[in-house]
Amino acid sequence: MTGLWIFGGVLLGGCTRHSGVTVRVPLPTRPPHVAARLGTHIPSRIGSERLDFNARIDPKLERIEVELCPRGFRIERLNAPSPGAERLLESGRIVTPQGAYACPGVGVDLPLSQPDECLHYAVKLPDRALDPTSARRAGADALWSPDLWLWVPSPRPEGVAMHVNFSLPEGVHALVPWQNTVPESAFAWKSAGAFGHGPPEPLPVPGGTLDVALLGAGFGERTNAVREWIAAGARASSLLYGQFPVSRALVLTVPGDRAGPGFGMALRGGGPAVVILLDRRASAPSLANDWTATHEFLHLGVPRLPPEDAWLFEGLASYYTEVVRARAGMISPARAYQHLLDGFERGRQSGGALSLRDESEQMHERSAFYRVYWAGAALAFLTDVEARRAGGPTLDSALREFAACCANSRPEDDWNAERVLARLDQSLGAPRFTEHARRWLDRAEFPELTPVLRTLGVAAGTRGEAIFGRAPNAAIRDAIMAPSPAEAQRQP
Ligand SMILES: [Zn+2]
Repeated sequence: MTGLWIFGGVLLGGCTRHSGVTVRVPLPTRPPHVAARLGTHIPSRIGSERLDFNARIDPKLERIEVELCPRGFRIERLNAPSPGAERLLESGRIVTPQGAYACPGVGVDLPLSQPDECLHYAVKLPDRALDPTSARRAGADALWSPDLWLWVPSPRPEGVAMHVNFSLPEGVHALVPWQNTVPESAFAWKSAGAFGHGPPEPLPVPGGTLDVALLGAGFGERTNAVREWIAAGARASSLLYGQFPVSRALVLTVPGDRAGPGFGMALRGGGPAVVILLDRRASAPSLANDWTATHEFLHLGVPRLPPEDAWLFEGLASYYTEVVRARAGMISPARAYQHLLDGFERGRQSGGALSLRDESEQMHERSAFYRVYWAGAALAFLTDVEARRAGGPTLDSALREFAACCANSRPEDDWNAERVLARLDQSLGAPRFTEHARRWLDRAEFPELTPVLRTLGVAAGTRGEAIFGRAPNAAIRDAIMAPSPAEAQRQP
């Protein structure tokens, strides 16, 4: 995630690396235990069970009417797809052939339902939600996460084929992250979606395709600049992974009135997606300095991890956001090191009494974004330098292998930081990342970087400015940010 979002005068979760101020912000309550919402599975009985959501969207894009039909099994319970989604349920009820069930809570039992019997419900969609990537009206279009309306039936037969069949007003397109069938991850993880008047436009990226939709009135004559910015972010992130980390991703760009860099969120529910809220006046020069797209695309190379592992997934993304932009020629290597030094310094200054592990677990409640992002970035940096000094496989190659195997993860893969580190270390041939994490995760101090920076010949001047000098590992310093061979050829 990147950026800081201001909504209705209230600052919401997120963070910025551009202002030196950390703001304490109220956040939506934490989700209840995800397992309860996910419901249960049963063995497949006939091998061809099916579940159809027939979703009709009204012409004003305010309401979705859903007919939910199982084939080959019986729906015993319906769960709200996200915290508070039950409040959007029209008349607060689920309608079955036996009558209506009031659903005031997180789900409703349907004791009288029969096999193959369809249920009905309608959802009144909000113009805005506390989470700006969840619901937001954009001109005639609407950003609406499936988390608001895709209720979760339980139990589901293993391997049931799930489909959403949309009935849309003329000219309206459903923008969802899945292709044909809906993966289980749509129920397990936060997902992105929208209804828009323009079709998603395919944008070829190395090794894949992005489905890009610019919602609302778009960006006027700057539309091409925005599309090029998205393409440049995708190319830069591909430099780390060898290609774009997933073969297909939905990119929803929402124009907003907030000046400054974008606010982004990488999501995995129902398929990979990135939502970016971007200043509608964003110009080519301001976009050139905006790292949001690169950062969010980098997230897609690492499987979805639990929120308490933010130090790892935000640390990797924060470190490589600077590295790959330097390699892509978007910023100079000197500027990339300057950004790293600035970030490390902010992370150091915003540290509290808690350990990095605890700060990471409570990052949103405590707005510990700088500390968590940049301490995590520091551990990635230490691992990168150490691996290069050893002369064996690099952190780049370990992440490339990891993305190739595991970027497209499923909820049952159950990745966490410990397992990711073990996997990266296996590629590195030594427990490098695990050791750095072990050394610093349970301490309140920011990771010690001065000795390593000294060997690289990088120092912060009295005003924090990056100073470069001769040093034993200066070649490593330069190699980290060196343009990729492809980008080097492209540059004159
Ligand atoms: Zn992030």
